[in-house]
Amino acid sequence: MQERQMSEEVRNDNPYSRLMALKRMGIVQNYQQIKEFTVLVVGIGGVGSVLCEMLTRCGIGKLIMYDYDKVELANMNRLFFTPQQVGLSKVEAAKQTLLNINPDVVIEAYNENITSGTGFNQLLERMQNGALKGGPVDLILSCVDNYAARMTINSACNELDQVWMESGVSEDAMSAHIQLIIPGETACFACAVPIAVVENNEQQIKREGVCAASLPTTMGITAGFLAQNTLKYLLGFGQTTFLLGYNALADFFQNYAIMPNSECKDPNCLKRQKLNSEKIRLNKLQKRKE
Ligand code: ATP
Ligand code: ZN
Repeated sequence: MQERQMSEEVRNDNPYSRLMALKRMGIVQNYQQIKEFTVLVVGIGGVGSVLCEMLTRCGIGKLIMYDYDKVELANMNRLFFTPQQVGLSKVEAAKQTLLNINPDVVIEAYNENITSGTGFNQLLERMQNGALKGGPVDLILSCVDNYAARMTINSACNELDQVWMESGVSEDAMSAHIQLIIPGETACFACAVPIAVVENNEQQIKREGVCAASLPTTMGITAGFLAQNTLKYLLGFGQTTFLLGYNALADFFQNYAIMPNSECKDPNCLKRQKLNSEKIRLNKLQKRKE
């Protein structure tokens, strides 16, 4: 019986049937819910563009994309963008490609710097009201390559109590990480800056004339980890990763969680930590009464 169903799926040319097979195989109970979710991605470069393509092919409901840069020939050592797109804004080029792949996805594209006053206010507004049916988006994914942009996303998410995932690839392209940040429950970006970022003194990487390495392999792997963790988080299957570190030279993986720092410099993080402790205390009291 199972074999017959499988061969029917193989013959079926609807891409969703292969995704729906995850349900029959007992992995995901509610795969079709994917089309109800909205994800906001900041940074449509080597990691972010591939991540958006993956989510588009998975049938995500809506993507909101932010990037302030244009496609350049220098970007061709990564996946996704093509030489014909050189000169277009990254978000506009990505929107065209993604809608060609899957026209069912609703896409909003913003060619903005999120650290500028207007960019930041617009980001806050989209975070709060950008979901398919209005209201807050389901998840923010950070694929930026600098400290200031990460801190901006961090402070917006702490302010709005928004769950997000951070990602980064090191300057030598040989290590990477992804991190799930739940304000008040796990360390925020300001509580503990990931080791890869500290080791490479990221603020200095962006100096004029300093050229960081980049590889489509490490960036593609990182995008895959981020997309997989997004599916697990949104659809509630498997174990959502808190912090996954990848060392390409040794094929070494680290998987752990960091607790929030009670001396974090972000006042909204401290506020979320307090609210979270109170929630845990009330839950414990409630359990004792039952
Ligand atoms: P490289 O720096 O190696 O030349 P890149 O600038 O394309 O490459 P990536 O690491 O591939 O960098 O991608 C990071 C992306 O994040 C870039 O496309 C960049 O434009 C975007 N980004 C960084 N900071 C901001 C910001 N403040 N607002 C919007 N987008 C940003
Ligand atoms: Zn913090």
